[in-house]
Amino acid sequence: MRDDLLRLTNDALATVFGGVPADPQAFADGVVDRFATHVNHGILNARKSVTEAGDHVSVEWDGEGSLIRDVHGREFIDLLGGYGVYTLGIRHPEVIAAVHAQLARSPLHTQELLDPLRGYFAEVLAALAPAGLTRAFFCNSGAEAVEAAMKLAMWATGRHTFVAAENAFHGKTLGALSLMGKERFRGPFEPALIDCERVPFGDAAALTAVLECMDPKPAAVVLEPIQGEAGAVVPPDGYLAAVRAACDDHGVLFVADEVQTCLGRTGAMFGVDHWGVVPDIVTLGKGLGGGVVPIGAVLSTPALWQVWEADPFIHSNTFGGNPLACAAGIAAAHVTVRDDLPGRALKVGERYADTVGELAAAYPELLEAVTGRGLLQAMHFATNEIGYEVAAGLFRRNVLVAGTTANARAIRIEPALTIPDELVDESLNRLADTLREVAGKERA
Ligand code: PLP
Repeated sequence: MRDDLLRLTNDALATVFGGVPADPQAFADGVVDRFATHVNHGILNARKSVTEAGDHVSVEWDGEGSLIRDVHGREFIDLLGGYGVYTLGIRHPEVIAAVHAQLARSPLHTQELLDPLRGYFAEVLAALAPAGLTRAFFCNSGAEAVEAAMKLAMWATGRHTFVAAENAFHGKTLGALSLMGKERFRGPFEPALIDCERVPFGDAAALTAVLECMDPKPAAVVLEPIQGEAGAVVPPDGYLAAVRAACDDHGVLFVADEVQTCLGRTGAMFGVDHWGVVPDIVTLGKGLGGGVVPIGAVLSTPALWQVWEADPFIHSNTFGGNPLACAAGIAAAHVTVRDDLPGRALKVGERYADTVGELAAAYPELLEAVTGRGLLQAMHFATNEIGYEVAAGLFRRNVLVAGTTANARAIRIEPALTIPDELVDESLNRLADTLREVAGKERA
């Protein structure tokens, strides 16, 4: 048993320390076996990397920027960006350098002494955030940030219900799941832990009507400024300002879930910045750690923070704001501001939106619309099957997008904000080629 286990850990460590496996096929087969036996067999059925890779299963190996290579040396253009994690691409050198240096000094914190980077990162976020959101709490994921935001709202108001949007996505932990718009994810766990009213996204009158009726009032309205998972849905101009006003009228807090939209993704530092709206609480995640270390955060005002300051341990965690994550986050914020990545996201996003829009006009039977802002765009296909065929066709052409057999009607384009112009052009050529092929098949 001991020898077997040591052989296993040695093999696994060779994957970390060694070069590309000499027999990539045997290596890939082993990965599939381990997923099937010890992780979750269902994942294999849902992945295009398994079903559409042709003569081999695609097992990721390395990458940089917007290029990812599998263990067979096949190279993909990454338009998926880890669902928004890779705002700076894969292995951004300045983020890696900061994390390496911090790793050499002290990777995690003592929990008792004051860790210097946490204070720095909180100050950096206060400088970037909408005015007045000068306090930060750190955690390890988007869902955890939403949990903390919900608790803060409940704590500060003494109320225990929420309002969220249809089709919203705020994470899958039990509290955040109560806000979940998608029945598929929420249904099996109902009744929800927390009561939540749902309103159509983008309809300020509907929200106002709900707030008027609710008695007692909810603790907060929680919204993504631009819905991500729902398919890059941009609300009408004026919506978020109307939400802000309705919340103020009814003494309800406004929480903006910026887990997916933060740090320049949509062409502004935060999604709410497109409309100049200041929420009471903001949640952050995904790209916050520069695509290198997971980190989530909650930002809010000194006034709301008072309840937390009275007892900082009512909500706390072990790893949140650890030195590695903060080193990554500070370096990522530095690069984002220095290189004006929000500005670049806006420009490159327009290029995608324009070209995909032209393709929608050329193939209306396949592609119904393109929505989004900056580099959070989505292609909306006529049917789930067509979406899947396009995702699979792109995969065969070495372009990585999301899209599973169960969910491909809206496919997001969410590449790194640093994606080079040549890869933008090349990915659009391959998309045009894929649509031509799928249209040919549909017409036949
Ligand atoms: N909130 C939003 C807006 C998201 O898009 C996501 C993830 O997609 C989450 C929360 C949950 O984040 P995580 O998967 O890191 O828990």
